Amino acid sequence: MKEFDVFIAGGGIAGSVAAKYTAKGGLSTLFIEKYKTPRMKSCSGIQFPYLEKIFGEKIPLDRLCTNELTKVSMHRPDGKKIKAPFKMLNFMRDVFDDWLNEVAIKNGAEFRDECSLIDWEIVHDDIIITISDKYKNTEKIKAKYLIDATGLMPKVRMKMRPNDFEKRSSGATINYYFDGETDLDPNTLYQYWNLEFNNMMFAWIYKKSDLWVIGTGYDKNIAKVGQKFFDFVKEKYNLKGEVVKKEGFSSTMNMGESKVNLGEGQILFVGDAAGLVDMCRGVGMDAAALSGRLAAKAILKIEKKRKKPSQTFQLYSRIMRKLVKQTINNVRKGIYNLKNNEELLIYLKKFMLKEGIVMMIQKFFNKFRRAEKITLLPP
Ligand SMILES: Cc1cc2nc3c(=O)[nH]c(=O)nc-3n(C[C@H](O)[C@H](O)[C@H](O)COP(=O)(O)OP(=O)(O)OC[C@H]3O[C@@H](n4cnc5c(N)ncnc54)[C@H](O)[C@@H]3O)c2cc1C
Repeated sequence: MKEFDVFIAGGGIAGSVAAKYTAKGGLSTLFIEKYKTPRMKSCSGIQFPYLEKIFGEKIPLDRLCTNELTKVSMHRPDGKKIKAPFKMLNFMRDVFDDWLNEVAIKNGAEFRDECSLIDWEIVHDDIIITISDKYKNTEKIKAKYLIDATGLMPKVRMKMRPNDFEKRSSGATINYYFDGETDLDPNTLYQYWNLEFNNMMFAWIYKKSDLWVIGTGYDKNIAKVGQKFFDFVKEKYNLKGEVVKKEGFSSTMNMGESKVNLGEGQILFVGDAAGLVDMCRGVGMDAAALSGRLAAKAILKIEKKRKKPSQTFQLYSRIMRKLVKQTINNVRKGIYNLKNNEELLIYLKKFMLKEGIVMMIQKFFNKFRRAEKITLLPP
């Protein structure tokens, strides 16, 4: 049986960052990805520039879209809008995550794609993990630490904490990829705050290299709501062309306060598997990267101090306190409890100006903070 210090399931953002840092710290690390890479992932692929600091890497230009996003345009239900300059990273998750996989490999991690975590069990102080390749050949791997970075349908967490998941979908998203002419600005991220279009956050429009993406999320009837938003955008911005692809995504994870969970003993949850995607902030990749980095930090510290691997969860929870607190506070602040657009308008007037100012202040202070201490935006 092959043995590793650290086994990581999931080759997305959280898994790749965790793998980079455990391998860089000298621990033998295996990380696996279920799909053939580069793999597609339903995601807008928009992030704050501080993501590079959390990665500890400069993103190569060829991993970014050809159009930059430099402005944001927030539309309220009463038709008013707020425009602001705001530079963001814009990338496609297949080419981007493929680069992150490469970074982890360059730092010494072993990687296998088309390889799935099937099951695991704790035997004495070790974890015996069963994995399967594309031919359904299974293999057992022994590791001291197991990181679940398998996203919103987390394989390890679902077995450990089945009650964190619902029988039916708890929320879904849809993206229309549109090829053609429009009156939209290719450098602007459009956010439509309107409960008729999205009852979890904002509906979105942005450009990704040659294609426009028009998408939204809803707790039910996503196909119908998505079409309604697309028809609205088509008329308002004079879309002339064709939809070349539609992409959907849904999850059964309970999105209440209890969604955040970091694992147990030497089994750590990171990124979406830990419930760190934040509907209120409208993003999740920064939390995924930061949690991956902090999970690696906790493991490296436990190894250095020769403590028992089962003590890792305690340390990981401690260094994750700020991020967990922010995520849970944002669950409480979310718009899903609002009844109508009038209530949404009051909510937006109350929070937006204040949050805009706090965001600029935190953005400034982030420049001086160490990567592990960054305040994720909007705060
Ligand atoms: C429509 C949409 C738009 C979004 N837009 C943004 C955005 O603009 N900005 C932002 O910051 N966030 C956005 N998010 C959230 C963001 O996509 C997630 O927060 C982020 O991808 C989480 O990263 P992760 O590494 O935890 O999980 P993932 O990126 O989901 O990676 C998990 C990986 O694990 C693999 N896997 C699953 N099961 C197994 C298994 N059994 N064995 C091995 N591998 C397995 C999966 O194939 C996947 O590659 C968006 C999400 C959606 C759905």
